[in-house]
Amino acid sequence: MNKILFAVSLSLILFSCKSGKSKFDDVDGPVAEESYYDGSEYQYDTTEIYEEGYDEYEGLEGFDEPKVRGIYNSSRTLLTDLIHTKLEVSFDWEKSQMKGKATITAKQHFYASDSLILDAKGMDVNKVELNGKVLTFNYTDSLKLRIKLDKVYTKDEKYTVVIDYVSKPEERKTGGSSAITSDKGLYFINPKGEIKGKMPQIWTQGETEANSVWFPTIDAPNAKSTQEMYITVADKYLTLSNGKLLDSKKNVDGSRTDHWKQDLPHAPYLFMMAVGEFKVIKDTYVRQDGSKMDVNYYVEPEYEASAKSIFGETPNMIKFFSQKLGVEFPWDKYSQIVVRDYVSGAMENTGAVIFGDFVYKTERELMDANDQSTVAHELFHHWFGDLVTCESWANLPLNESFANYSQYLWDEHRFGIDEADYQAEQEANGYFDNGMSQGYHNLIWYSHFDKEDMFDGHSYNKGGRILHMLRNYLGDEAFFKGLNNYLTTNKYKAAEVHNLRMAFEEVTGEDLNWFFDQWFLGKGHPIVFTTQTINPENQQ
Ligand SMILES: [Zn+2]
Repeated sequence: MNKILFAVSLSLILFSCKSGKSKFDDVDGPVAEESYYDGSEYQYDTTEIYEEGYDEYEGLEGFDEPKVRGIYNSSRTLLTDLIHTKLEVSFDWEKSQMKGKATITAKQHFYASDSLILDAKGMDVNKVELNGKVLTFNYTDSLKLRIKLDKVYTKDEKYTVVIDYVSKPEERKTGGSSAITSDKGLYFINPKGEIKGKMPQIWTQGETEANSVWFPTIDAPNAKSTQEMYITVADKYLTLSNGKLLDSKKNVDGSRTDHWKQDLPHAPYLFMMAVGEFKVIKDTYVRQDGSKMDVNYYVEPEYEASAKSIFGETPNMIKFFSQKLGVEFPWDKYSQIVVRDYVSGAMENTGAVIFGDFVYKTERELMDANDQSTVAHELFHHWFGDLVTCESWANLPLNESFANYSQYLWDEHRFGIDEADYQAEQEANGYFDNGMSQGYHNLIWYSHFDKEDMFDGHSYNKGGRILHMLRNYLGDEAFFKGLNNYLTTNKYKAAEVHNLRMAFEEVTGEDLNWFFDQWFLGKGHPIVFTTQTINPENQQ
């Protein structure tokens, strides 16, 4: 995901950061003095902040010592493994609801059991069946669907349940974070066409755990499933989902059903669909083996002419990142779609990336500012996030730090080192700014208060800078070989920070605990004080 909320205010940093002062009185040779700031002074108790608001914490220096909280946010315990998820959906635009049938194939992860527990938020669950037999279930909290299977299943036995349900996103109380402002999962935009000039559309936003509003699943980043979608719409609409469009069938009632399929497993938060009267602009990426892959841009008709100016670097980026990582783009296709009223900046749904309408720009506007950094960010997630996924939200930097750093890699390649370094400085300032206002915490943050708090200037901005430092320490060849090792070892699986460390250790032969302990598992940053003195003899 890419949020557009950490706009950097350099002046704020300089005036508010007590350690930002340098003395440039009279100059004759600097004397550098280094210290390490561990951030503890600005540590705060998140509970208190949430209860009392931020205002009284202005000035920050008066913060009390941190209260020790005994929270450890672990990865989800996997009782059951998802294998395949087939969804058949149609929409009620009037009510902003979705009728769904989920056919879920699963198996026990290790321990035998006669129950299947799925996340399913705020649905009407009508019926659950297995091999034509109706199963009993408990869904009293409207959050967890607890299904009693017909017998005890061992880890070697697959089974398939069929769930009939209605998704009702508008009836959910929504939460969300500063980066992702809502968690309804499924969005109907101008569904009755009441607002003139606003194209009615449907789209989804899964991260962090909102996709379970529109389909029952194990909504955790360490679960993975292959996927199949049958989306039924009025014939005038286009649909988009993950994977390939296998076929499109007209129904007797005049509607049409599109069949999308992705044979490669990915995490439930990456499932997506979008519906609307979009125009598709087609482009192509040629893989290193010579095979061609579809690259499509979905925009509203008004922006058809500028779509290639907005997204046209995409095939070059896919080629550049594939070569740099030594891992070919692993998915079926690459589509990018721009939607209205989006709740974040952009989202890396596998092969079907959503952007907010801030990317709609004309040729003339693009001369002043383009959004290639966002395009690169979401694309790079297709290796870091989609191919290898953080196993818990505490490990989110394994997704976001890399996506953030891809912006540097693309700038360096496309526009040169000066542009890359300039943008990196802005990113670093974003971290300083965020730390000053919201406090400092470990980069891999097991004690976060809410998973949504992970989407901050640490996971993105700081993490990107740490990867750059690691690249400089290891050297380019070792750094990229380490990334290749991490991706190929953990592909289609979830990973935690130690998998990353061990991938680098295997390549370089060096124990890197010292680096990872300090930078990934610790907090804070060094502060360099520079003082200069003048030799009176040199004065005129
Ligand atoms: Zn991202």
